[in-house]
Amino acid sequence: MNPNQRLPAVDRVLQQLPALIETHGRQLVTGCVRAELAAAREGIKHGLPLPDEAALLAAIGRRADASARANLRPVFNLTGTVLHTNLGRAQLAEEAIAAMVDAARSPCALEYDLASGGRGDRDDLVSGLLSELVAGGDPNIAATIVNNNAAAVLLTLNALAQGKEAVVSRGELVEIGGAFRVPDVMRRAQVKLFEIGTTNRTHDKDYAEAIGPKTALLMKVHTSNYAVVGFTKVVDEKAIADIAHAAGLPFVVDLGSGTLTDFAAYGLPAEPTPQQALAAGADIVTFSGDKLLGGPQAGLIVGRKDLIAKIKKNPLKRALRVGKTTLAALEATLRLYRDPDRLSQRLPTLRLLTRPLADIETTGQRLLPLIQAALGATVVVSLAPCSSQIGSGALPVERLPSLALLCRPTAKKPGKALLALEAAFRGLPVPVIGHIRDDAYHLDLRCLEAGDEARFTEQLAHLKF
Ligand SMILES: *Cc1c(COP(=O)(O)O)cnc(C)c1O
Repeated sequence: MNPNQRLPAVDRVLQQLPALIETHGRQLVTGCVRAELAAAREGIKHGLPLPDEAALLAAIGRRADASARANLRPVFNLTGTVLHTNLGRAQLAEEAIAAMVDAARSPCALEYDLASGGRGDRDDLVSGLLSELVAGGDPNIAATIVNNNAAAVLLTLNALAQGKEAVVSRGELVEIGGAFRVPDVMRRAQVKLFEIGTTNRTHDKDYAEAIGPKTALLMKVHTSNYAVVGFTKVVDEKAIADIAHAAGLPFVVDLGSGTLTDFAAYGLPAEPTPQQALAAGADIVTFSGDKLLGGPQAGLIVGRKDLIAKIKKNPLKRALRVGKTTLAALEATLRLYRDPDRLSQRLPTLRLLTRPLADIETTGQRLLPLIQAALGATVVVSLAPCSSQIGSGALPVERLPSLALLCRPTAKKPGKALLALEAAFRGLPVPVIGHIRDDAYHLDLRCLEAGDEARFTEQLAHLKF
């Protein structure tokens, strides 16, 4: 095209793009041709030259590729937060992924009892397994599954305490990720919050004295996201359970995270489990599927069969229930817990949390020269100790020793270079998410496992810095 010619017609451009049309379909490519021609026309109006044909076709190709790319894209989570809510929390085990694919692909016995040929209950797919894992198969323990733990708390409160009062310590009126505040959830559940104690100290007698004719239940909320330290007093679960039961009331525990395995056995900081809560006398425990459990997004409500039955009858249950792919992933994840010996290899969440430092170091040594070469002389890359965190509110003050590649721009005022570095890694085909701290861009290598290294290094050639 020479500047004296007019822009080509849409049809004529399309004729030159058979491969692009084959890939993306005629409609999408036509839209991109129109958009690029319009942009060129706009440019000409503002004095830019007519684009040459090759440049125009390349721009159309880029636009089509970008438009066809999924919005939900895989990324490398090198933030150092293993369960990162904004990055999708738990990575699922291969067994769970396979189960989801099967459930998605063909009809499945979601609510169909294959033994009798009658109607089944979707919660039965995991209720028995959960009872086995958290209560030694106690037939009086059942479970129901909803969309997430926020839903689990909302449903439990509405089903067991609508129009009445729930007693909670002031030290536990937590907000999680801005969107879940215990007092707000109570209000939506139409339950009156009866606050007791103070932010730092709550005593047995505070619970006992709070009980009156309107009390429906006592509740304990695991203090996710923060820790109250110093002059503190919390009442242990057994004591609250005894006070509740003496008054004929149920005791509900929102564990938030909740792992079914003893973290201490893996050298990790101890985290309260549903087993412990139930053993201490909790009548209902709720926890997330995609935090420490390492499964799909879900809210698990486990506890006394009669209370679970009441919760399942609540109309909100129908609105908050989960689909077949979630249940497939949850069932497969729970089955992994039956084999504790292999759990830390098969469950990615636990595998990442327990990854040996030496292993992280090997990754670091291999990557350091490659990243240094990709970034050039204006950035100095080094391998340095750092600490990962578990994330999603679990064990808020605990840190896991890890290693990070630190990319330090040599510029005197590195602010701009750091932002450019961050953007360059984010702009890779599989975006890499790190974080800036102390004048360095950090890539915590805990979550970059050996199996993903090739995919990571191959794309360094595309790094535009
Ligand atoms: C995370 C958390 C929730 C919310 O769980 P979601 O599964 O994210 O809905 C509720 N309560 C506590 C204590 C939590 O830690």
